[in-house]
Amino acid sequence: MSKAHRGRTLKQETPGSGRGQCPICKRSGIKLLFEMEVDEKKLVLCKQCNAAVKAGKYKEVIAAL
Ligand SMILES: [Zn+2]
Repeated sequence: MSKAHRGRTLKQETPGSGRGQCPICKRSGIKLLFEMEVDEKKLVLCKQCNAAVKAGKYKEVIAAL
């Protein structure tokens, strides 16, 4: 399980190299690499939002999803 978020592993195992629209920042074409579960909902976030959520931000945004 090395480098699960980049390179060959990512291209082989995720269609579109894991790209899509982040549910929080709404950026499209960004790599969605970080899964998290909130209230039994599964969210897949981009790197920046994952870090921000861990730092305690976006609580209201997530609650509204
Ligand atoms: Zn994001």
